[in-house]
Amino acid sequence: MAEIQLRNVSKRWGSFVGVDDFNLTIADEEFLVLLGPSGCGKTTTMRMIAGLEDVTEGTISIDGQVVNDLDPKDRDIAMVFQSYGLYPNMNVYENIRFPLKVRKVDADSHDERVKRAAAMVELEPFMHRKPAELSGGQRQRVALARAIVREPNVFLMDEPLSNLDAKLRVSTRAQIKNLSHELKVTTIYVTHDQIEAMTLADRVVVMKQGVVQQVGTPTEIYDRPANTFVAGFIGSPAMNLMEGTLQDGTFTGDRVSISGLNGPNGPVTLGFRAEDAHVGDDQGEISAPVYTMELLGDATMIAVRAGGAMVSVKAHKEFRAEIGDTVSLSVSPEICHLFDAQTGARIA
Ligand code: ATP
Repeated sequence: MAEIQLRNVSKRWGSFVGVDDFNLTIADEEFLVLLGPSGCGKTTTMRMIAGLEDVTEGTISIDGQVVNDLDPKDRDIAMVFQSYGLYPNMNVYENIRFPLKVRKVDADSHDERVKRAAAMVELEPFMHRKPAELSGGQRQRVALARAIVREPNVFLMDEPLSNLDAKLRVSTRAQIKNLSHELKVTTIYVTHDQIEAMTLADRVVVMKQGVVQQVGTPTEIYDRPANTFVAGFIGSPAMNLMEGTLQDGTFTGDRVSISGLNGPNGPVTLGFRAEDAHVGDDQGEISAPVYTMELLGDATMIAVRAGGAMVSVKAHKEFRAEIGDTVSLSVSPEICHLFDAQTGARIA
């Protein structure tokens, strides 16, 4: 059982604010992902939970006990980093066993626990190899097994896949998801990769410059981004965001006019996702020359300039046009998101 609570948690170095007033309860067995661009405070938040960084203000509790002053070793937390942190002179078996020795766990149980952890990440054939004799993916699995073997209450993972190639990243990602489900351990996972976040998380926390922007399930964050930052960060491609004016339910901007919207009159940012619009015949809401066209195999992606931005729309895979040809794009009001032009906050 491990419920983690952060109450008004801030981290400052002098006048620089690394994490600003972070509030969240992470449920027992939850898989929580901290997501955001480089420098947004993800690692600092995780390090405060681990006890590797002091909290400037606020409290962190694990199962109701405030741990602000508790040593990292007393928090029952196992960490996995992007640099695997393996001991080069020890073989795989010894590396996995190491935390048991340090914690003076009953020696009789070591062999069984090491083998069980190794089996979970399919490392049995490599037990006698040294880290230098392993691939990057295998080394990362040793780091995972070393975290698993402790049977901790909490896993903290800081970009554990970032040193792996694209294919290995996908398979190791699936393995991590499966493991966390099987082990029923509260997991906090840091990444700047929104696809990792969306595929792994029960809930995602999106951060920017030390401030939480939105907390929600991947679906909530994708379907109802709280502001233009989240809208522009989640999804591949990210949401199209156009500048214009809303007047009596009609949004008007450069080469775009969409009617049937609900919102206050005045300047707004309008968003929609590439896959929600389509390339129509004449009389679409956007009419503009093709800037680029990309063949994706299952679809053709068209980009045009409209509403002061580059706008992408997914067309049928057989759709073809020349750069410069005028295309008409259908954008129905139901697929549109409206944001405040100044603050970027969601309006509707
Ligand atoms: P990345 O994805 O690049 O690891 P991050 O979101 O994990 O980024 P943090 O490492 O948490 O970001 O850093 C948050 C901010 O705090 C950054 O601007 C960083 O420069 C700053 N920071 C981190 N450690 C210190 C420190 N010891 N002293 C001063 N500033 C720091």
